[in-house]
Amino acid sequence: MAKRDYYEILGVSKSATAEEIKKAYRKTALKYHPDRNPDDKAAEEKFKEAAEAYEVLSDDNKKARYDRFGHAGVGGPGGGYGGGAGSMNVDDIFEHFGDIFGDMFGGGFAGASRARSRGGRPRGERGSNLRVKLKLTLEEIAEGASKQIKIKKFNTCGTCTGTGAKDDSSFQTCGTCNGNGVVVRVSETFLGRMQTTATCPSCKGEGKIVKASCTTCSGEGRNYEEEMVTIDVPAGVEEGMQLSMSSKGNAGKRGGAPGDLIIAIEEKEHEYLKRDGRNLVYDLFISFPEAALGANLEVPTIGGKARIKVPEGTQSGKIFRLKGKGLPSVNAYGKGDQLIHVNVWTPKKLSKEERKILEKLQQSEHFDPNPDDNEKGFFEKMKDLFG
Ligand SMILES: [Zn+2]
Ligand SMILES: [Zn+2]
Repeated sequence: MAKRDYYEILGVSKSATAEEIKKAYRKTALKYHPDRNPDDKAAEEKFKEAAEAYEVLSDDNKKARYDRFGHAGVGGPGGGYGGGAGSMNVDDIFEHFGDIFGDMFGGGFAGASRARSRGGRPRGERGSNLRVKLKLTLEEIAEGASKQIKIKKFNTCGTCTGTGAKDDSSFQTCGTCNGNGVVVRVSETFLGRMQTTATCPSCKGEGKIVKASCTTCSGEGRNYEEEMVTIDVPAGVEEGMQLSMSSKGNAGKRGGAPGDLIIAIEEKEHEYLKRDGRNLVYDLFISFPEAALGANLEVPTIGGKARIKVPEGTQSGKIFRLKGKGLPSVNAYGKGDQLIHVNVWTPKKLSKEERKILEKLQQSEHFDPNPDDNEKGFFEKMKDLFG
């Protein structure tokens, strides 16, 4: 696939200043940021493409070569220049350019996993993310909740503070890189000798090697432990939603940054109420006399009760609405409503007396499911019989 022009990718002119290029890259990178475009391959490619363009255009040397020779000057076909952002994966990009994103994706629940890229070079391998399920009642969802759960996870070893070494004298300078943490590779290209640096494979960039291991963690720098974690759940979450707590997952080996704790929300079934988005639905069963004569009834709400007036002549299927008695939304203001669906209950067994009354009703000229003609007479009759 032919590479696009780097200036075009960032949407700047060839005469753009370094500051303009930086700004343009920031804008492009944020637009195609993986946290904003989850599982979007096209966006990820654009994100990488922008990083590659920025890597070249932000470096005076590479920029000059690119201006003169095009892509061939900085690693295009036949360029012979190894490395560069062209071969970077997304995590490498955060490693290199993380400071450009600033705190945009810092704390909170949205994509905090990238926080590890800022400030300092990570030592060991990053720890894995930890997934837990959290069951919540509708009451907890309505109010938001602070939940304590016990989880088993890798924590940084307290004895060696994650280094994996027995003590301070257990370290030895790495022989491969002489303690620099990087190795330099020199290659001949048509532009002359090119130097590229790579993380030292022996010490993984630490510059030091451990001679004697910590006995608590056997040199791993972390221990598998039980821990109580407090999860602050915002009001209005839904089944299937995921919350992410930055750096609360497994600690990495030998001081590697911790992964994230991913919390999958599940809803406990409520005894009386069913959820429908932000609304709550309650099935109210009333007797035939209540429907016909009207009634003042108590219905359960989230965390309490409410009284509703069922007017006389209420039909089965009627819906009453309790405004604002539903659930809040994580993303929006306001609350949903509680909807009360009226069902008229038909008795399955009748006493002799009940049967007599109903038979009498049946003979009544007003006992006819045509509300327009008979409504008034029907209620009069009902009141005589049951009132
Ligand atoms: Zn080394
Ligand atoms: Zn240890």
